[in-house]
Amino acid sequence: MAVRIAAFGLSDVGRVRLKNEDTLAVEPSRGLVMVADGMGGAPGGEVASALAVQEVCRGLHADMELREAILQANLKILETSRSQPSLAGMGTTLTVLHLDSETGTFRVGHVGDSRAYRFREGVLVQLTRDHTAVAEMVAGGILPPSDARGHPMAHILSRVLGSRPEPEVDLIPGMARKGDIFLLCSDGLTKVFENEELGDRIVEGKGKRLENLIRALVDEANARGAPDNVTVAGLAVHAGG
Ligand code: CA
Ligand code: CA
Repeated sequence: MAVRIAAFGLSDVGRVRLKNEDTLAVEPSRGLVMVADGMGGAPGGEVASALAVQEVCRGLHADMELREAILQANLKILETSRSQPSLAGMGTTLTVLHLDSETGTFRVGHVGDSRAYRFREGVLVQLTRDHTAVAEMVAGGILPPSDARGHPMAHILSRVLGSRPEPEVDLIPGMARKGDIFLLCSDGLTKVFENEELGDRIVEGKGKRLENLIRALVDEANARGAPDNVTVAGLAVHAGG
């Protein structure tokens, strides 16, 4: 099923941080959106997220498999952090959506606690799982889900790019349908929005342009105090031609 794609992304420093260490990429012609959230202090965080996005774009442009492109980006970050003392210890999350407009098939590649969601027929589904110590304790039944938000260990990632030579990469395949909206975001958005609220905002914004929906989400995150950098990238699937 051939589809037509609209995509848009926005990244904002938020209300508390002095610098934006998130990076995004939006390439509608390639069905590609991605969000990376860097960490490791100045200047490491922004370097790590920018390298991740650059290297994955480069790999996909060269027809590399998504997983290979992500692993290549990981090695680049690792090499760079080892060769420059000021960048030691840097790392980044990375969540990538790559959708083939000829067939409608898509793949999400994911490491870290940025997220990919799919909105279909009124329902928002989180496609990725967070690679955090807290999410793993919830999944393992050690921590009740109600205690996850605001947990003192909430910021500790169990998987990240840039920390080891071959990180585990989640790959989530699927088939897009006309009307689907995909949203990728950094945790700066999900710290101030529950999933249910995000679904409500998409329902409320139905029929509006994707750009307006994403601008409204970032504005509302800022209105709620945005304690971290806020990045949202979206991809809407329309009938093909
Ligand atoms: Ca960050
Ligand atoms: Ca963040």
